Amino acid sequence: MARKMEIGRREFMLTTAGAVAAGLGPACTWGASAQEIEEAAAQVGRLPRRKLGGGPREVSVLVGSATWASAPVEAAIRCGVNFWHKAEDWGSSVPQAILKNRDAHYCQVCVDRVRGNHETGQIDEEAHYRLVKRTVKQSGLRYFDDMQFHFGYHNVAELKTNRGFVRAFERLKKERLVRHLCLSQHHYDGNARVPAGQNAREILSAVVEDGVYEHAQFFYSYGEGEEMNGFLALARRKGFGTIAMKTTRGAGRLTRDAKLMKDFPAGTTPHHALARWLTTRTQLDAAVIQINSLREFVDTYSGAGKTMRAADAEAIRRMTAYANREVCRLCNQCASHCPHSVPIADILRYERYARDYGEGYRARLLYARLDRQADSCIVCGECLPHCPQGLEIPEKLAATHRILS
Ligand code: SF4
Ligand code: SF4
Repeated sequence: MARKMEIGRREFMLTTAGAVAAGLGPACTWGASAQEIEEAAAQVGRLPRRKLGGGPREVSVLVGSATWASAPVEAAIRCGVNFWHKAEDWGSSVPQAILKNRDAHYCQVCVDRVRGNHETGQIDEEAHYRLVKRTVKQSGLRYFDDMQFHFGYHNVAELKTNRGFVRAFERLKKERLVRHLCLSQHHYDGNARVPAGQNAREILSAVVEDGVYEHAQFFYSYGEGEEMNGFLALARRKGFGTIAMKTTRGAGRLTRDAKLMKDFPAGTTPHHALARWLTTRTQLDAAVIQINSLREFVDTYSGAGKTMRAADAEAIRRMTAYANREVCRLCNQCASHCPHSVPIADILRYERYARDYGEGYRARLLYARLDRQADSCIVCGECLPHCPQGLEIPEKLAATHRILS
């Protein structure tokens, strides 16, 4: 059972296809028995809910993801997790518990730019419209609750002048195939592949003022600066929904560092403290935390909505210090200073997938698609003074290349 429960996202997708072909069907929970799932759910308990933005919807303070293995998904459903990130990843294998109680769940579809990647691709109303229409049909969900513009806008001007994604949403909404419009937003300032790119906070602030989108996902974790906290305050005032992503900033690698864990505060764990902190000490509406097994689900989600204890506060303090020394915060402030246009933040984001989320396969796949990899770094040091964390960027790039190439 242990091996099945530790199954990673990609492996899950591959084995799901195999199981469906073998007639096992989507209800297969990969080795975790119904009793183990019930026990996990009982240990976590019912998650509290909170309003998502200014609308009437209430979502669990920690949301779920279709990228998880099936056993934690089943346990999460029992715990009242009701918002599902990347529901398109289920393909035609949406959990039966969601299909049978469809209106109790909010299922989100993520839609990418076309004819290129998130930097070079285009917004195309017709292509987005057709993709979502096809994906709804394939899923059997009847409709997606939230249509998410994946990666978001390159700058504020694009938000204001290119309404193709919004038009695709409006057409689909008229056909009752989608209900709410949202986006995830990355940083594009200093990105050599994105002319006039701006950072996520600037774009998100404009999105809130624009008033068309209802909520957003964005990078947020411990050690966050005043800029993103200022955005959260603005979003709360304006009734704009917020969901944090990329929340485990180094928690995965820290957990595997026996030396650091030896003296870790007793009675908590990095992921458990993270869950308590995200859901009680921030102005977020909700957050998603990547987990890879039923055991991780129990450890992490049992902290949702619970008060921080002294041990959790000390854990977050140590995790922040560790992350500030070791883990890129994906702020992109180094990007414009690299004369070789090395996509530093993308490379170090994939490092996080591999080292913190247990998603090595996905990380290698994404890394292989980069037009410029970490071995393009000539160790000139131009980027170093611009990293707010003082990271040894060339060393980190070289180490990441060894892991992902
Ligand atoms: S050290 Fe590497 S990543 Fe940094 S600016 Fe020079 S080439 Fe770019
Ligand atoms: S390497 Fe430093 S400056 Fe560059 S994205 Fe990461 S944290 Fe920001």
